[in-house]
Amino acid sequence: MRDPRYDVLFQPMAIGPVVAKNRFYQVPHCNGGGYRDPSAAAEMRGVKAEGGWGVIFTEQTEMHHTSEITPFIELRLWEDQDIPALRRMAARMKSHGALAGIQLAYSGINGPNFYTKEVPLAPSAGPIRTFTNDPVQARALDKTDIRNLRRWFVNAAKRSKAAGFDLICLYGAHGFGIFQHFLSRATNQRTDEYGGSLENRSRFAREVIADMREAVGDTMGLTLRVSLDETIGDMGFSNAEVRDFIEMNRDLPDLWDLAQGSWEECSGPSRFKEEAAQEALVRGIRELTGKPVVGVGRFTSPDVMVRMIRSGTLDFIGCARPSIADPFLPKKIEEGRIEDIRECIGCNICITGDMTQSISRCTQNPTFMEEWRKGWHPERMNPKGDSRNVLVVGSGPAGLEAARALSLRGYDVAVAEARGTIGGRVARERLLPGLSAWGRVVDYRQYQLGQRPNVETYVDSGLSADEVLSFGFENVCVATGSRWRADGVARQHVVPVPVQGALPVFTPDDIMEGRLPAGQVVVYDDDHYYMGGVLAELLAQKGCAVTLITTSAYVSDWTLNTLEQGAIHRRLVAAGVKIVLNTGLASIRAGGIETNCSYTGARGHIGCDALVMVASRRSDTALYEALVARQDEWADAGIRSVRIIGDACAPGPIAWATYAGHRYARELDTPDIGDALPFRREVTALADS
Ligand code: ADP
Ligand code: SF4
Repeated sequence: MRDPRYDVLFQPMAIGPVVAKNRFYQVPHCNGGGYRDPSAAAEMRGVKAEGGWGVIFTEQTEMHHTSEITPFIELRLWEDQDIPALRRMAARMKSHGALAGIQLAYSGINGPNFYTKEVPLAPSAGPIRTFTNDPVQARALDKTDIRNLRRWFVNAAKRSKAAGFDLICLYGAHGFGIFQHFLSRATNQRTDEYGGSLENRSRFAREVIADMREAVGDTMGLTLRVSLDETIGDMGFSNAEVRDFIEMNRDLPDLWDLAQGSWEECSGPSRFKEEAAQEALVRGIRELTGKPVVGVGRFTSPDVMVRMIRSGTLDFIGCARPSIADPFLPKKIEEGRIEDIRECIGCNICITGDMTQSISRCTQNPTFMEEWRKGWHPERMNPKGDSRNVLVVGSGPAGLEAARALSLRGYDVAVAEARGTIGGRVARERLLPGLSAWGRVVDYRQYQLGQRPNVETYVDSGLSADEVLSFGFENVCVATGSRWRADGVARQHVVPVPVQGALPVFTPDDIMEGRLPAGQVVVYDDDHYYMGGVLAELLAQKGCAVTLITTSAYVSDWTLNTLEQGAIHRRLVAAGVKIVLNTGLASIRAGGIETNCSYTGARGHIGCDALVMVASRRSDTALYEALVARQDEWADAGIRSVRIIGDACAPGPIAWATYAGHRYARELDTPDIGDALPFRREVTALADS
């Protein structure tokens, strides 16, 4: 049963004319599905309703066709045709008593309008401020445009009501929403009654909210989402101005939704931001208004949540990522099952679904965005098939998730791990600078396995094919992982890097296993995710003089998708790492490396005592191949299936491994679907002609 300390989290609270059943507030978050995958997005929200959230929001919804953010896939409410998809979403959100919220976004200076080809409109003219520096400028809204825009907001509000939503969030945060563009002197340089003083810059928000209140305010709560600080210096909408704005407009919306800075700042990964990182910026704001306040901070600890409410800092606990990692977080607190919470690790893989316009995944919750596509529920597994047991070889994220999910299905599971501790790559990577929270991938699963009567875990148990064949398990799941290559094969080099002389070469595995270089060290990064940057940071901490070279124009290039590339670059500069971009490794020499320019091929030389090769990984397939070679012995050994999953199948990020483990567990003993698509999808309905 629930610990009474957490009772405060379950107190109802009004937001304008509607009442939230508790303080768990899923703030808007993208999912890479949006208008392309409406039922997948709706079901994902519906599962959160089941998980006990009091308030559930959509991702940003483009409320008018004159402002859209193609290629990013969010929701659209451009005309009545869009209502049915949103009605499905609202209905799923409300299915267990949550309030359904829609976030209306007019992207202004952030919307390049690639799809609609409309000229973007913004408070002041200027280049579109997107991630990709699009060569498009916005025109300044004139008075007629502002009148039109107010009407479009009212139309969108009426459509939102028709779709069944209870709440509307007006987006003015992260540099993405027009309310911020009006409020900030950086993006509002008007000289009329909408520009200049803070009162004038607030006018647009006041007018829109008044219009909407008149149109739908009797039944819908209206919230305004602003960033606590625009964090762009003096010109920006600073924390002090945010406070002045709220004080000046105390009761403007029915709730103040306080996000932070740019999206990178608001969704900072655990490598750079702690839980409740925004606390100092929020504190005291609630006293400036009579309306409730919600704020975010990657909250996963109920004690921190309670502190936020009891200290008068927040009224609602805003969560995006924690609600993705565990859609049942509120329910687990309510049922006194704190230790069952699957805590977000702050890796931002979920965000990459939006950034790559694919569909989101979550490292911790492999069912995210598969609730409708595959019918996967985060808390319930499909019934057990007709075999009885599984031997999982390897206890990395793939093996552990397979074991957890298999045990829930009812299989007897044995996990064999060659090393002395479970966790595979995560057991090692969690010790790297800034990555300790990633250990939750192991901790959560280790605890869950410990609670199950049908799982045995064996460490120091490196298995051979002979042993596997002698054990008598019906199913063998090979999750033996991968090792980093020392020969440099990755993207620049499809065959080993030429070696012209002797130089000590280290792989990430060497370093994680405690074999460290010393002196002048070059880290060569042709992997482009976090590992090169993290090792450069670690080695600088250990006193090495580190130069990081990469063929890319960015350090840790792919982390642009996890919103941490800028923070990584800043940290490396602060650590004294010398960064050399657009530069490859041509050959290894005695006493240094030969480099080549990514564009011209021009050769250079960097003297060093050691080279750290962050290239690609090679799957550890030895056991699998040995078993396959002896397939004719399987039947006598009682073996029905042998499968290879995770990094052993094909190396990828940790989220790919937990997904592979979960999928294996779901699909064991299920009918072969042949050539059929392994998930449901929606196809745009063709027009009549
Ligand atoms: P993944 O990301 O796919 O889960 P990891 O590399 O994290 O892969 O984990 C694989 C684990 O498998 C490692 O901890 C490794 O020690 C273990 N392992 C590899 N080969 C064997 C084997 N033959 N027997 C038992 N464990 C093994
Ligand atoms: Fe958290 Fe990572 Fe899952 Fe996103 S992908 S919710 S950051 S664990």
